[in-house]
Amino acid sequence: MRQWRNKAESWVQRGLDRRLRLAVTGLSRSGKTAFITSLVNQLEHAGLDARLPHWLPAAEGRILGSQRVPGRHHHVPAFGYEAALSQLAQTPPVWPEPTRGISEITLAIRYCPKNRLKRRLQDTATLYLELVDYPGEWLLDLPLLSMSYAEWSAQQQELLQTPALARLAHPWLTAGAVIAPDSPADDAVLAPLAAGYTQWLHDIKRECGAYLVQPGRFVLPGEYLGAPMLQFVPWVWGAVPAGLGEQHHYGMMETRFEHYKKHLVAGFYREHFAGFDRQIVLVDCLSALNRGTDSFADLSRAVNAIVQSFDYGKTGWWRRLFAPRIDKLLFAATKADHLTPDQHSRLARLLSGLVRAGHRHARLAGIDIDTLALASIKATHSGEVIHRGETIPALQGRRLDNGESVTLYPGEVPENLPDADFWQQQGFDFTDFSPPVWQPEQPLPHLRLDQALAFLLGDKLA
Ligand code: GDP
Repeated sequence: MRQWRNKAESWVQRGLDRRLRLAVTGLSRSGKTAFITSLVNQLEHAGLDARLPHWLPAAEGRILGSQRVPGRHHHVPAFGYEAALSQLAQTPPVWPEPTRGISEITLAIRYCPKNRLKRRLQDTATLYLELVDYPGEWLLDLPLLSMSYAEWSAQQQELLQTPALARLAHPWLTAGAVIAPDSPADDAVLAPLAAGYTQWLHDIKRECGAYLVQPGRFVLPGEYLGAPMLQFVPWVWGAVPAGLGEQHHYGMMETRFEHYKKHLVAGFYREHFAGFDRQIVLVDCLSALNRGTDSFADLSRAVNAIVQSFDYGKTGWWRRLFAPRIDKLLFAATKADHLTPDQHSRLARLLSGLVRAGHRHARLAGIDIDTLALASIKATHSGEVIHRGETIPALQGRRLDNGESVTLYPGEVPENLPDADFWQQQGFDFTDFSPPVWQPEQPLPHLRLDQALAFLLGDKLA
């Protein structure tokens, strides 16, 4: 009898325990590392001293505790939580080193179910939360799947019509111009050509503030650095004779492009994306505003391309191939602590505007979408100062570039994109801050991580 009861209890327990795979993405420097570090930290402090008033299970005192546990996916590198915390705990504190590929961390969250039926069956349940961090750049590659090498080359040629991009492309454009498409394929020729092209992608990111950079793995190759399938460039040097095979330069690059699509782009969707339950996409709107109108326009295109990754439900082939199951998608504007609190809703609305086009379609595909502005690790204090007899909101923090303590009014965020005149006359200048001084036994200070938790996990702890 007892044996039977033990069995029944463990069966009930298994029924109550849940697993949720929450993917965290965003372009480089959007704040993924800071977000995961702080989220894990808040969850470890949930039920103790974390400030999570908008996350009901915590506000209702139903979180009993969370702890890190070994992950199920032994081939995925572990997220460096301890290293990130120790960097934040240094004197003076430094921002954690960002991750460059995919990584994962799992938490077991023990809670009291609210649901009466569940409660009668068992007093406590566990949610295994698997947080997966991966570069948003990888999502930008999805459109490649439906393109041939010739089509992709034509698209890149069009990109080169933009003078600033073409100017930086000079080295690889001139190197490629002397290669005949039907000359014998030679790695000694292709490797430096691809290196020049990759350098160009880095340069347009850095100098033109470009975000929509393809192929994404060229700039973030992870373990594939130096692999031949990352050694091709778009053919932008005119007509090509028909029927060129792998023995020729053009044919070899075409083959590598197809390998890239099959192994890296489709492989990521098959092995990782298809297994995600929920997704948060982090977007750093403020750095793009600082860089100017072209950079912001490019961020807008990149966000749109990312939104499309969740909008393939209708087209059939994508759904057939990968059977994605994401049902909640949160877009979060990061680093809201760069702004005074009165500007946070404007920042969220600016981001909503960016995702709106895709938003409409993704709703059709049955995904619940939301947008908010947050700070994973709040580095400033907000208050008010009197300036010429007027009370104005202000921020206090330490500048990232020189460590100096400052009190400043960072200015307003546009809700809609300003016109060309505005960019020319004034532009934006949001200051970057050093991380806050923080005692390791305390939870990290944040803004609205509890609202993110409420949207992403709320229904899972009922
Ligand atoms: P990743 O490349 O997406 O992993 O981005 P990181 O998490 O490394 O963030 C890039 C940089 O943005 C950090 O080094 C910080 O300077 C800044 N940052 C990220 N999150 C925050 C935040 O919540 N507040 C502030 N003030 N800065 C942040």
